[in-house]
Amino acid sequence: MILYLVVPCYNEEEVLETSAETLLAKLDRLQAAGRIEEESRIVLVNDGSSDRTAQIMSRLHEQNPRISCIHFSANFGHQNAVLAGYHFAADKCDAAISIDADLQQDIEAIDLFLDEYEKGADVVYGVRNSRDTDGFFKKATSQIFYQLMEWFGTKTIPNHADYRLLSRRALQALSEYGEGNIYLRGLIPTLGFPSAIVHFDVKDRTAGSSKYTLSKMLRLAADGITSFSIAPIHFVFMMGILILLVSLIVMLVTLIDWIRGNVVSGWTTIVLSVWALGAMQLIAIGIVGEYIGKNYIETKKRPRYLIESVEHK
Ligand code: UDP
Ligand code: MG
Repeated sequence: MILYLVVPCYNEEEVLETSAETLLAKLDRLQAAGRIEEESRIVLVNDGSSDRTAQIMSRLHEQNPRISCIHFSANFGHQNAVLAGYHFAADKCDAAISIDADLQQDIEAIDLFLDEYEKGADVVYGVRNSRDTDGFFKKATSQIFYQLMEWFGTKTIPNHADYRLLSRRALQALSEYGEGNIYLRGLIPTLGFPSAIVHFDVKDRTAGSSKYTLSKMLRLAADGITSFSIAPIHFVFMMGILILLVSLIVMLVTLIDWIRGNVVSGWTTIVLSVWALGAMQLIAIGIVGEYIGKNYIETKKRPRYLIESVEHK
């Protein structure tokens, strides 16, 4: 079988060379074991890096024809970089595996991915064993995020990031999706097809710093939630009803106060309700705005990424 490894790279000059070497060695071992064919490739997707990533990629491609490069014209984000790699691979390979450029994910799990593929799985999810290497903040925020996703009814595999195998069938199915806001972790389970799970260990980043800034993480979380469910809108509606009930009680209390003649004591209640309602309205407007914004972007049918050049032999 022909295997493509899809590697998104954004300002990865510190790790790219060693990662490419490690992956090439892995391909060699797999080929020697007769598991993959010579036409297998590593697809590096340069997501508009501003450091030396592009030059390093081109040099790697010159030195080794098994490394193919896709260069974006600007930074379109991790999800779009992975998607571009999938699109590129869809008509060239039997299966593609996406993995981060820092190789925090254990590459030895690739053998297990292939085992599952051979047993007939079209989608194999890599699920991390523990989050020990993550800081407290990342651990806490991702836990909240996955919990929210579950409440909002989006089918995701917990602790599965974007380390996964997709068969040619699954890749081609994914290419049919035309939406602009991409959240692969939510999208892939909707493809159907036989799937399997493989567990792997996460290591520390060997060099460089995380390219997922807080704002990129928040963007991904917002996309994940609003691209897949309208549960937040229902939530606002239910909150509205709840607030209505509360204000009825407040009305009753104020009325009793008024009858007793303690008008001044009601001031607190009024101020509190004004603040609570103001907050509720802001939240509601924000959520509605999020959906309107999505429609605005979708109706433009903007390309999800733009490729400046491709190096592939
Ligand atoms: N990445 C990308 N575009 C971006 C941000 C990140 O292609 O805008 C890539 C990055 O090069 C890496 C992967 O996404 O290959 C995961 O990023 P990182 O390791 O920094 O995230 P973390 O492991 O901290 O979640
Ligand atoms: Mg990482």
